[in-house]
Amino acid sequence: GNSTLDGVSRVADLDASKLTITLSETLKPIPPRDTWLFGNIMTDHMVVAEFDPETGWSNPEIKPRGPLSLDPASSCVQYGTTVFEGMKAYIGPDGKPRLFRPDMNMARLARSAERMALPPFNIDQVLVLIKQLITVDRRWIPSSSGYSLYIRPTLMGTRMGLSVAASDHATLCIFLSPAGPYFRSGVKAISALAVADTVRAWPGGTGGHKVALNYSPGFLPLRVAQKQGYEQILWLLGDDMKVTEAGAMNIFIVVKRDDGEINLLTPPLDGTILPGVTRDSVLALAKAHAAGEIILPGLQQTLRIHAQERTFTMDDLWRWSADGRLLEAFGAGTAVIIASIGKIGFKSREDIILAEHEDGLGPLANAFRTTILDIQEGKEAWKDWGVL
Ligand code: PMP
Repeated sequence: GNSTLDGVSRVADLDASKLTITLSETLKPIPPRDTWLFGNIMTDHMVVAEFDPETGWSNPEIKPRGPLSLDPASSCVQYGTTVFEGMKAYIGPDGKPRLFRPDMNMARLARSAERMALPPFNIDQVLVLIKQLITVDRRWIPSSSGYSLYIRPTLMGTRMGLSVAASDHATLCIFLSPAGPYFRSGVKAISALAVADTVRAWPGGTGGHKVALNYSPGFLPLRVAQKQGYEQILWLLGDDMKVTEAGAMNIFIVVKRDDGEINLLTPPLDGTILPGVTRDSVLALAKAHAAGEIILPGLQQTLRIHAQERTFTMDDLWRWSADGRLLEAFGAGTAVIIASIGKIGFKSREDIILAEHEDGLGPLANAFRTTILDIQEGKEAWKDWGVL
């Protein structure tokens, strides 16, 4: 996973020990928390480093946050060679900022960069730079539960010129945005419109990578879905309408089996699904519960959960819903952690309505959400997931 420059290359690799820090002369007032939507407020500083094919990676800088200067013929402007990550820093009861499984984000960033033929970089150094930036902008992380600092490492192709080819210049920019609880007025289930005539990803495409051009083609269908009263899109794929992802979240469903035990299903990582950190964590926790290594809160230890990465289709959802076996559906991702899905629409068919739960989350959704948040906030330790 570590995409360092190979030994043959003589250009400089990214080196966090060469970091220079220029602090902003005036710090911004922190806006009231009720104005924090997702990613609308930015902190004071950013990390910038540039790659030049002759010299390699420049010495990284932390400097006052502000616009970058880009030639309009830059690769990222013309051909969308932008990749990014989304992760969060949390403050725990010990007052220390913590990252959640950041190695997974770093490995994914390297894979995304490689897929877009962007220059390689040492991912361990990116993580060091992220930690430095968090230290500089530490005052932006509230220590109340549910609040965090969203981190957006971004890598852009900055080669100037219109030839349709890889960008051999790049800019790495890391910036931070304070994040409040995703649901302000209490957790509630979301609605999703299943869409088959526009697709998010396809076999051989880039759905398994976090590249900017996976997102913008979804904006128009999302607007249409929202006009019809749905909050998110449930992305389908193929004539058999395989269920793939929900908005920018991985999807899970909970299905009652004939033997009374339950299946926890999520689509397999076949290249059309983003390998989510939250997805991986839900699967790992479900397996740990099944193995008796942990007891998920609110669930009986005797409840057998069979976690499976398995394809399912809209026909499966309609059938399991009609049979009363579709117990829960939920999305999993960094921004929301876990959000239950309460309603799934499709064209003119009747909506699939899932059971309502008092606190807006089904029992499994709630168990995973609570456990993951506790680990993120350092209230609970599990493996090496919480990183200082
Ligand atoms: N799918 C897509 C398309 C996403 O953009 C995200 C957010 N990164 C996810 C799933 C969830 O991934 P993660 O749990 O790593 O945030």
